[in-house]
Amino acid sequence: MKIPFTGGCVCGAIRYECTAEPIMMLKCHCRDCQQISGGGFAAAVLVPAEAFRLTRGQLRYHFTPSIRRGKHKRGFCPECGSRMTGAEFEGDDSQFVGVLAASLDDPSWFQPQMDIFVSEAQPWDQMDPAIPKFGQYPPSPVKE
Ligand SMILES: [Zn+2]
Ligand SMILES: [Zn+2]
Repeated sequence: MKIPFTGGCVCGAIRYECTAEPIMMLKCHCRDCQQISGGGFAAAVLVPAEAFRLTRGQLRYHFTPSIRRGKHKRGFCPECGSRMTGAEFEGDDSQFVGVLAASLDDPSWFQPQMDIFVSEAQPWDQMDPAIPKFGQYPPSPVKE
């Protein structure tokens, strides 16, 4: 992975840049991520919020209730609907942004370090037995 790394949506209306290394890479198997991604999980790269910026376009956001706090905030392209971000919460105090691995210009460097919300995973969702699994959220990587 080269720093900064870049990515965007399928139509090109949204482009972003991240100037820091990922804090964590994970797959979230929760029902919301299933419905939003159309697949078994969302593959996400957690980065410091201050290192992430849009270089083109504006995200639209959708909110779902979160067991952690408030509402989970997920960003998507208003033109093509591609999901770009997650792991943020309602309000502007989030310390991290979860960048969707599939939106990276080079998604090949994504290496999941854990599976989360495996309690909601589908039976057809094959997981790597070698990485840690959490029923819901893992212990927070950085104190929030
Ligand atoms: Zn788009
Ligand atoms: Zn999820």
